[in-house]
Amino acid sequence: MAVTSKPSTSTSLRHETMLIDGAWTDGKAREAITVLNPGNRKPIASVPRGTAEDIDTAVKAATAAFPAWMRVPPRDRGRILTRIADVIEARVEELAKIIAEETGNAIKTQARPEAKGTAEIFRYFGGLASELKGETIPFGEHVLSYTRREPIGVVGAIIPWNAPVLLGSLKIAPALCAGNTLVLKAAEDAPLGILWVARICQEFLPKGVLNVITGYGPEAGAALSAHPGVRKLSFTGSTEVGKLVMKAASERIVPVSLELGGKSPSIVYPDANEDWVVDGIIAAMRFTRQSQSCTAGSRLFLHADIFDDFLNKLAAKASKLKIGNPLDEETDMGAIINEKQFRKVCGYVEDGLKQPGATLRFGGLPPKDGPLSEGFFAIPTLFAHDANDWRLAKEEIFGPVLVAIKWTDEQEAIRMANQTHYGLAGYVWTKDIGRALRTAHAIEAGWVQINQGLGQSPGHSYGGVKQSGIGREFSLEGMLDSFTIKKNVTINLATP
Ligand code: ADP
Repeated sequence: MAVTSKPSTSTSLRHETMLIDGAWTDGKAREAITVLNPGNRKPIASVPRGTAEDIDTAVKAATAAFPAWMRVPPRDRGRILTRIADVIEARVEELAKIIAEETGNAIKTQARPEAKGTAEIFRYFGGLASELKGETIPFGEHVLSYTRREPIGVVGAIIPWNAPVLLGSLKIAPALCAGNTLVLKAAEDAPLGILWVARICQEFLPKGVLNVITGYGPEAGAALSAHPGVRKLSFTGSTEVGKLVMKAASERIVPVSLELGGKSPSIVYPDANEDWVVDGIIAAMRFTRQSQSCTAGSRLFLHADIFDDFLNKLAAKASKLKIGNPLDEETDMGAIINEKQFRKVCGYVEDGLKQPGATLRFGGLPPKDGPLSEGFFAIPTLFAHDANDWRLAKEEIFGPVLVAIKWTDEQEAIRMANQTHYGLAGYVWTKDIGRALRTAHAIEAGWVQINQGLGQSPGHSYGGVKQSGIGREFSLEGMLDSFTIKKNVTINLATP
């Protein structure tokens, strides 16, 4: 969580600076942002409240660094990313603690896997440098026509707080591998982990290649989206802000990648009334990330024959999740990022409790006293309702509030699953392979999993359709499409 403070009021607090042109600096910031631990609402550190001027300095530094960086042989760029991966891997526990403390995500279930995943991302993209290949086009014997994958230039990247280090690395590693330079705006609620990663990167990178600005979205983020020196925008966050970024990009016809919100369906067939599916639904709903995940399977379409029995099993398992201090190794589920989000999640629960036709099957409002009231802790909650078009079934809650909807006809289940303006992920649960694949193909989403509810892995192209976004990440194609330009060169071989 972030609050603004004058630097003088936070002198005893650890202060982290921004990375601009190879130097660690407060830039032109006259104020600081205090980062709080969502698990106990206590300050952890402060960072500069970066300004539009700081963005401008950073974009100029990235512009100056670009010609030399794009000429570094791709395999040498890849080698640098691999060395960064080695250092992150060796210090993964340090990073895991920072992530747990600033995001409120439990170290065991989320922060440590995120830290390990970050090293994996650098290693994966480091190995892809030789794949920045072009192709030849067969126009005939007297013509040589080929394509080159060229970097775009200065990339402006904006990241959210829910998996800040992994999502930040997903911009840094492929953008730099492809020969671009980068200005990254960290999320105000969770900037510390990505600054830690940037410190490691800077030990290996020439100055100006990577710049990291801390600050608020409407200030630093908007300035970055609108900066004329930025040649590509890559944004992960809410659909509303994604639209603003796209609007800013449209002013200058700058390509944009957007990874936005979701309201992903989980469709459970009657043959899947089993414990492993219940575990899978808990994983897909990302309860152990407080469901602060764009891929959360937050609409559970359960077949009528198994509806009550399945929900009873789910209630029993969800109630066993241990909620509390994110740094405690026993904890399964940590805290919601900040007070605003926490109130928003509580507001949805209150709405559900008042909704005619909805029944609370487990969970509810968070405890008002006891240890959990010291942080922004929400509890796993499920409302059952026959309708798919009420507020909790339509809007992205970004909290541990699941809705269950009964179905009997497969076509009807698919129709309801697609009845959303989002299209990021989907989950299908059945042992009938034909039915599973038919349903997976019919779901309007960028990524459908059958009989599992896992997170992304490097190598598969990840991204949304509809208002969940544009472009793909996590993969070779993602890097090529998002961070390179395909230039065609055609030579007339007949001319002396
Ligand atoms: P979340 O709900 O995950 O916080 P947001 O879309 O609000 O998602 O924030 C994601 C990122 O977008 C953050 O780094 C935030 O500072 C930034 N941001 C917020 N508003 C703007 C804006 N108007 N222009 C550019 N970036 C913004």
